[in-house]
Amino acid sequence: MRRLVFKLAAAFVLTSWLILGIFSYFNVQRERAQFQANAQRTALLVAHVLVPTLAEVWATRGEDAALAVVARADRREDGVRIRWVWADAPPGDLRAADAGNDVFHALSPGHDVVHVARHPEGSARIYTYVHVPADPTRVGALEVVESNREQVRYVETTILSTIAQTLAVAIANGLVAVIFGAWLVGRPVLQLVRKTRRIAAGDLGGPLALDRRDELGDVAREIDLMCEKLAEAQVRAEADAAARIHALEELRHADRLRTVGQLAAGIAHELGTPLSVVAGRARMILRAKELPAAHTHAEIVVKETERITDILGQLLDFARKKTAKKARVELAPLLREGVTLLAPLAANGQVDLALELPDAPLFVAADASRLQQVFTNLIVNAVHAMKGRQGRIEVGLTRVSRAAAGESGATHRAFAAISVRDRGAGIPEAHLARVFEPFFTTKDVGEGTGLGLSVSQGIVEEHGGSIDVASAVGVGTTFTVYLPIAETEETPGP
Ligand code: ADP
Repeated sequence: MRRLVFKLAAAFVLTSWLILGIFSYFNVQRERAQFQANAQRTALLVAHVLVPTLAEVWATRGEDAALAVVARADRREDGVRIRWVWADAPPGDLRAADAGNDVFHALSPGHDVVHVARHPEGSARIYTYVHVPADPTRVGALEVVESNREQVRYVETTILSTIAQTLAVAIANGLVAVIFGAWLVGRPVLQLVRKTRRIAAGDLGGPLALDRRDELGDVAREIDLMCEKLAEAQVRAEADAAARIHALEELRHADRLRTVGQLAAGIAHELGTPLSVVAGRARMILRAKELPAAHTHAEIVVKETERITDILGQLLDFARKKTAKKARVELAPLLREGVTLLAPLAANGQVDLALELPDAPLFVAADASRLQQVFTNLIVNAVHAMKGRQGRIEVGLTRVSRAAAGESGATHRAFAAISVRDRGAGIPEAHLARVFEPFFTTKDVGEGTGLGLSVSQGIVEEHGGSIDVASAVGVGTTFTVYLPIAETEETPGP
């Protein structure tokens, strides 16, 4: 803003300087021309008055008396020098023409006045020679010299006054530019700058309301209008966002209802069969005549009730999401224990269980029994998948570095990867996305509840990890559990 005012002031000063300079130049020129004309007029006047008297005195009283008249006239005329000169006087002589003897060449009968201008040392002089035919033997003339000393003084005064005027105009212009600049430009521009900063900070309120009918007023009105429109757009955007969030909530709610529905259907389906078996057997016990038959029925009742309890237990696991009691757990011993426990089941299905462990121990912060539940689940599923095929299930433990869940890919951290790989039937593409859904099962009634993987996924996520599945039909399936490593001095990061 200050720079703008100074630029304005400089432009004003330069312009006034230029105008005053041009006017002063022409004034001085005019003054010079006027001096010349005035000088010539004065000389002619003097000559016209003096020449007839001079001629008469010369004729009647002689040369000396005539030259005395000239000397008297010289004394009387102020600022004008009057002398008598001879054409034949050598240069430097008292009676030699100041402007040079050449001037006498221009004098002739009928042309007896000559004006010459000389400029010695910056000043100017006008010489006027008037031929006076006083002596028939010699050519003589009256020399009238006018100096422009007065005029030089005038020009000097003009230049000085021009400088003074220019300075005064410059100061006045500067002051006017600063005062008006601050009032007309500085203040409103400052308000505009503050307003735009407020807009940038997100504050759209407080209109500028610059009550001015100039360009800055127009800009202020446009900015106020823009703010109003932005505020309206902001309100609309907020309403849209709220509507979207509401719609999302509705969707989530619907999704929850769908899951509850699935759960209810699953429970009805899962419990229906054992309950009808229990009811049927109980009735048979009532009707049984012999004790052994009643005993067999009672055994089946007990078995089916255990199954119901089992299903309800898994359901509780799924629904409750108990907070795990976490401790520092070493994974290798846990996996070894799981594999040992399930070895008989695997042997029954004619498959081998192989365990591959890293040299360095890997620790996680976990609830050991719940993690064991996950590993058991995966291994049992693998054994089931290899039903009717011979081969090996490989359980592996490695340390990997990957992006943590919910974080950008740029930040990596250390995870323990527990993989369970089988050479079983594989999972068809259509089922792959659904295996973690509660009650999704492809197994026969009584063999699977469809809760194993969803419960496992819940447990793993509770531990800050995730489960991946990769499968190819006819080739096999690999489930990999990732758990964040509990870093300590003994287990430095990768
Ligand atoms: P369940 O084992 O009781 O059926 P799960 O949630 O553990 O329930 O598994 C859901 C379904 O995922 C299984 O019925 C099966 O179709 C599929 N599945 C799980 N593990 C494997 C595997 N290793 N190989 C092939 N299919 C599998």
